[in-house]
Amino acid sequence: MSEVRVRYAPSPTGPQHIGGARSALFNFLYARATGGKFVLRIEDTDLERSSRESEENILAALRWLGITWDEGVQVGGPYGPYRQTERLDTYRRHTQRLLEMGAAYYCYCSEEELAAEREELISRGETPRYLGKCRNLTAEQVREYEAQGRKPVVRFRVPDNQEVKIHDLVRGEVSFDSNLIGDFVIVKSDGIPTYNFAVVVDDTTMEITHVLRGEEHLSNTPRQVLIYQALNLPLPEFGHISLILGKDRSKMSKRHGSVSVAHYREQGYLPEGIVNFIALLGWAPPGEEEFFGMEELIGAFSLARVAKNPAVFDMDKLNYISSHYIKEAEPSRLAELAVPHLQQAGFLKGTPDAAGFEWLSVMMAAIQEYLAYVGQVVEYARFFYGEEVMLQGSDAREVLQGDQVPAVIELFLKKLDEAVELTPETVKGILKSVGKELKLGGKQVFMPLRVALTGETQGPELYNLIPLLGKRTAAKRVQSAMKQL
Ligand code: GLU
Repeated sequence: MSEVRVRYAPSPTGPQHIGGARSALFNFLYARATGGKFVLRIEDTDLERSSRESEENILAALRWLGITWDEGVQVGGPYGPYRQTERLDTYRRHTQRLLEMGAAYYCYCSEEELAAEREELISRGETPRYLGKCRNLTAEQVREYEAQGRKPVVRFRVPDNQEVKIHDLVRGEVSFDSNLIGDFVIVKSDGIPTYNFAVVVDDTTMEITHVLRGEEHLSNTPRQVLIYQALNLPLPEFGHISLILGKDRSKMSKRHGSVSVAHYREQGYLPEGIVNFIALLGWAPPGEEEFFGMEELIGAFSLARVAKNPAVFDMDKLNYISSHYIKEAEPSRLAELAVPHLQQAGFLKGTPDAAGFEWLSVMMAAIQEYLAYVGQVVEYARFFYGEEVMLQGSDAREVLQGDQVPAVIELFLKKLDEAVELTPETVKGILKSVGKELKLGGKQVFMPLRVALTGETQGPELYNLIPLLGKRTAAKRVQSAMKQL
């Protein structure tokens, strides 16, 4: 078999969304798993909606996820250029061929005429489609239209009465009736090709062997197949990956939370977590294991395990997968990601210096087991920042009213003051000895200290918290808490 060549071909009309990232990932994995090539092509023929900003957003999102391409924009390659607006000559050549063969023709119908035809068909309960008014124009009709200043489009002549069969790698046999398709536009009146045409020319000239893309493109595929056939070109393999649905089973959209990769990046999800999560959107791992790094995915991925039924985007699952990677991450990496969140929430002013960064890394180590994504740091930051605490609720107050509390606090502060060094280990020793000397059970010691140090009855481990607070802040917090009784 010849070398596998796959591609991801985004239209740069908005930020990279999760669904597209999944298509990119599956293509990337397939290329890596088969030793093939992964091509990145930009489909920017929608001039009004395409922008360089979106293109950059898409490429940055892919790179962030660790999805790299062998050929394409930014990296070049033997089949370039890889941006459709830079390939207009190539499309023109193919258009010319189709026109000469009679497989395509100029159409001069105006917007109004097309709209009227559409309405007429809809009112008769038929599929709206172009009925072929300009299929067989005489030279004289053409002259007349030209004289009126009409600018033609080029339409593909869809053969009548043909069953267009697609052998889909994911969905099996799918067939379409050509009579329901209608001659479609392949080149707009401004000379720009439409998606269905440009995609065929590109996939052919770039020697793409497998077209793996979202199910939303399945209805375009018969049009593309007909163009391949007209040009007598070999078909690539097609595989349409299921839609991604929200938890309510409707198509994933903004309503279900954000769909852009950048959003998750900004929230402080790690790329490994996102890649693992989107890999499971439509691909079923062979065993029980659900955590896969990129290398493991490359080893385990196969098209045979890409499911036909829709994938459901489950936020809880995302957070579950993500928290696994947060737990495993280096605290200093998490600290770096936490800085903008802490700045925005007002806990940090400016950029921390080396000591501040070291402190922050220790703090992240203390809380990383609780986080699904780094942005959640702001929900824990109050435990670590500030010299005052506020008693939260009657439970907290009650804890501090225990008879043993004044003695616990006094002895704790004394030992804290005497400590040579505060580390989780030395703090564990202090807490233990307070209990031992006062003959109190663990809870009798920990609870009042926890409340006195944080104002709350729950929070991070005291032995992690106290070294981060330091002697002075810990003492100040205790005093401020006791004053509120
Ligand atoms: N430009 C199309 C899109 O962004 C790609 C379709 C395809 O992969 O053929 O949806």
